[in-house]
Amino acid sequence: MNTSLQLYNTLTRKKEPFEPLHAPNVGMYVCGPTVYSDVHLGNCRTFISFDLIFRYLKYSGFKVRYVRNITDAGHLEGDRDEGDDKFAKRAKLEQLEPMEVVQKYTLGFHDVLRVFNTLPPSIEPTATGHIMEQIEMIKEIINNGYAYEVNGTIYFDVEKYSKEYNYTILTNRNLEDMLANTRELGGQDDKRGRLDFALWIMAKPETIMRWPSPWGVGFPGWHIECSAMSAKYLGDEFDIHGGGMDLAATHHTNEIAQSEAYSHKQPAKYWMHTNMLTVNGSRMSKSLGNGFLPGELFTGDHSMLKKGFSPMTVKFFMLQAHYRSTLDFSNEALDASEKGFRRLMNAVNLLGRLIPSDTSDFEIQSLADNCLKAMNDDFNSPVVIAELFEAVRIINTVHDGKAKISAEELVKLKKLINDFVFDIFGLKDEDSANTELNSVLDLVIDIRKSAKENKDYATSDKIRVGLHEMGILLKDSKEGTTWNKI
Ligand code: AMP
Ligand code: ZN
Repeated sequence: MNTSLQLYNTLTRKKEPFEPLHAPNVGMYVCGPTVYSDVHLGNCRTFISFDLIFRYLKYSGFKVRYVRNITDAGHLEGDRDEGDDKFAKRAKLEQLEPMEVVQKYTLGFHDVLRVFNTLPPSIEPTATGHIMEQIEMIKEIINNGYAYEVNGTIYFDVEKYSKEYNYTILTNRNLEDMLANTRELGGQDDKRGRLDFALWIMAKPETIMRWPSPWGVGFPGWHIECSAMSAKYLGDEFDIHGGGMDLAATHHTNEIAQSEAYSHKQPAKYWMHTNMLTVNGSRMSKSLGNGFLPGELFTGDHSMLKKGFSPMTVKFFMLQAHYRSTLDFSNEALDASEKGFRRLMNAVNLLGRLIPSDTSDFEIQSLADNCLKAMNDDFNSPVVIAELFEAVRIINTVHDGKAKISAEELVKLKKLINDFVFDIFGLKDEDSANTELNSVLDLVIDIRKSAKENKDYATSDKIRVGLHEMGILLKDSKEGTTWNKI
């Protein structure tokens, strides 16, 4: 089990050694998507970042229970418990029953994450599947004196809570400033304090998604589902809670408040937040209209795109930035990632064909140590990628016959690539998926060899030039012929 991992904790605003509450078991909860529309590329960045973290924790010997929820109810358009229900609105627009909307976009979300080769979470609970648990939690929060009812709606009492706890612990904001920046309550407001938020909302006659409760028919507020589901599957105290940075100020702040008001315990030891994917410096978001769908990126069918980029190119582009840095989308950056990823995959394909020597010009252990050190330093994937390009250089030099590698070092090199490229980064060779191409090329190379042996240079040249025109470069050496994509 890895005891050298350090991770950045939003709660303490510093890097800390990762010491799980019940090692080797690790509980990790990540806020999942709100499935009233397609996920955009920004959402994917957050889930790909947590996939990296999940994969590395598993690689490090931890037994991880990874819970990532599906928000399929209780999400109003405004952050302040106002506006239409997003699901009902979309259902009306698409002439569907709200749960058809949920099913459609949940399936779409799974398809997209599969294309990005992310691992499924251990448990994927839904808000609508846990209404009972949410009601029970709200009852307990009321019993503990931190919530009150007004006309069938239950509000969390932030003022009462903040007398005993630090409401702004995650973001370190000043409560007075927050109050000053929040709209004053008007005559039609039912809540007592400006910062109070709804745990349960009374249904209006037109509300479609509604459930009975001790306070009448209604639906849960936006934040309570995550407190209820994390407690149910990971306990009142667990290791990691994560999500995108935009969730820290409201959703996660309110989650901590609810969980503490319920169990008097800070729910997660480590809070982790991933940074945003931006376009020209602005956060990619559905509401700004600058969010494109992964499918549009793959086909290039979007006005902002020069061409399409493959899923692994996009994933590689994301891994080239640290998860806590912003990442700005641009065609140029993706072009560069495409080239880099192809170079990496070409080298990986050559790896199986390297012939070991008795001596070695390289010592792979230090490369592997550097990769581990980088991952142990708060999952620093860009540094790992720089080290992997050093491995690419070694592979190419040995392949070109300019340096030697021993059998022992070659085994280490293969392990390094296998561990970091495939296991931890979850990349895959999109071309090798096309095993038919490999077999056809083996056959063509064999025919060319026979043609050359028979001095039929017209045929052998035709094959070489023809393949070159298709973007495939043949390379002859003492050991035989290999091919590369240009
Ligand atoms: P939502 O479906 O809006 O609830 O968002 C799902 C996840 O995507 C949340 O963890 C958000 O913080 C995250 N997210 C939203 N926009 C972006 C973005 N532009 N870049 C990275 N993550 C994002
Ligand atoms: Zn959540």
